[in-house]
Amino acid sequence: MSLKAKFKSFFPFSKPDIGQKEIREVVDSLKSGWITSGPKVLKFEDQLKNYLNSPYVLTLNSATAGLHLALLALELKPGDEVITTPMTWLSTVNTIINAGGKPVLIDVNKDDCNIDLDKLEKAITNKTKAIIPVHFAGLPVDIDKLYNIAKKHNIYVIEDAAHAIGAEYKDKKIGSFGDIQVFSFHPNKNITTGEGGCISTQNKNIAEKISIMRFHGIDRKSWDRFSKKGSQDYEVVYPGYKYNMMDIQAAIGIHQLCKLDKFIDKRTLLANRYVSKLKNIQEITLFKQPNYSHKHAWHLFTVLINTKKLNRDEFMSFMKQRNIGTGLHYKAVHLYQYYKNKFKFKYGDFPNAEYISEKIVSLPLFPNMTIQEQDNVINEMKEILK
Ligand SMILES: *Cc1c(COP(=O)(O)O)cnc(C)c1O
Repeated sequence: MSLKAKFKSFFPFSKPDIGQKEIREVVDSLKSGWITSGPKVLKFEDQLKNYLNSPYVLTLNSATAGLHLALLALELKPGDEVITTPMTWLSTVNTIINAGGKPVLIDVNKDDCNIDLDKLEKAITNKTKAIIPVHFAGLPVDIDKLYNIAKKHNIYVIEDAAHAIGAEYKDKKIGSFGDIQVFSFHPNKNITTGEGGCISTQNKNIAEKISIMRFHGIDRKSWDRFSKKGSQDYEVVYPGYKYNMMDIQAAIGIHQLCKLDKFIDKRTLLANRYVSKLKNIQEITLFKQPNYSHKHAWHLFTVLINTKKLNRDEFMSFMKQRNIGTGLHYKAVHLYQYYKNKFKFKYGDFPNAEYISEKIVSLPLFPNMTIQEQDNVINEMKEILK
C-alpha cells in the first residue's frame, strides 16, 4: 500500500471554530472582574431563548448536568424505570442511575440509529417514569409518534438533544416544543462553550426546580448577588448541585450561537458531498433519511464499514496512519462491564445496536473543513478500502 500521505499533519475528525469575537469576549470577562455566572450568562440565555423559541432556557456546565437535573426534577422513586437507547454517550445511562432510576434499553433502527419507537410500548411498565430518546448525530427522532405514545402512558420525554441544536422536526426547532430538551456545548458539538450545556422546557414548574437545583438549592437567582438589587439573604430549599455555567463559558457561547446556522449549512454541504461520493462504494453502508419532514443538524457523519476485508477498528487505524482522525459514536452501552454486571445486559439483547456498534465510524466533519480536505479524506478512504 502506498503511503503518500495527503495530510502532512494530523487532521482531526472534529475541531471547534473559535473566532476573534469569542476570544475578545473571554478577555473582556477576565478583565471585568466578574468571571463566574453573571451578565454574560444572562445574555447567552436570552439569546438561546430567542434562537430556540422557548420560554425557559437554563445554562449549565454540561449536558450531563442537564440530564441529571431533568431526571431529578421528575422525582424518581426507587425502582422507577427510564427508557433509553444503547447507542448513546454514557451520560444518558449514568444520569438515570445517579438520579435513582433503573435504565431500560430498547434497540435502535438499523436504518438511522435512532431509537426504535415500534419497540417502545412493549417496554413501558407501570414503573416507567420517562423516556430519553437521543436525536442521533443531529437527526430528530419521529417526535409526533414518540409523544403520542408518551402521552398515552403518562410518561415524560427528556430529549437528549446533545447532537441536535439547530435541528428541526416538521419546521419546528428542537427545543421549541415538548417536555424537556438537553443540549451540549462540548467542543465536539455543533457549538461550544468549552464545556457546557443547557436545558430548554415549556414547563415553568420544571424550570424553577432546575434553576434552584443547579446552584446549591438556593431559592433565588444566584446572579442577583452581582447586582445592587439582589438581597444578600437567601433560603436553601434543596441539597442542590454546582452545575452553573460561568461567564467565561457564556462569552464563547454568545458568539458561537450567532454562527450556528452557518455552521449547520456548512456541515450539511459536507454531509451531502459525503453521501454523493460514498454511496456507490460497496464496502460502505450509509444511514437513510426518514420520511417525516426534518432538518438534520449534522453533528456527526457516520457510516458503517461493511466488508470482510477489514474491520472498523482496522479502518480507523489505517486512517490514523494516513494522518486522519475518525470517531467512534458509539460502542453500545450495554456491552460495557458495569452495566452488564449491574443490569444483566448481554450480547444479543439489542441486535441492531450491536451490528451498528461493530461497524460504525464517524468521519471528519466540522465547519472549517475545506472541500479539498474532504476530497483528500474520501480518496484516502477509497485507497484503504480497495
Ligand atoms: C456529548 C453528549 C452528552 C453529554 O454532553 P456533555 O456536555 O459532555 O455533558 C450526552 N449525550 C450525548 C448523546 C452526547 O453526545
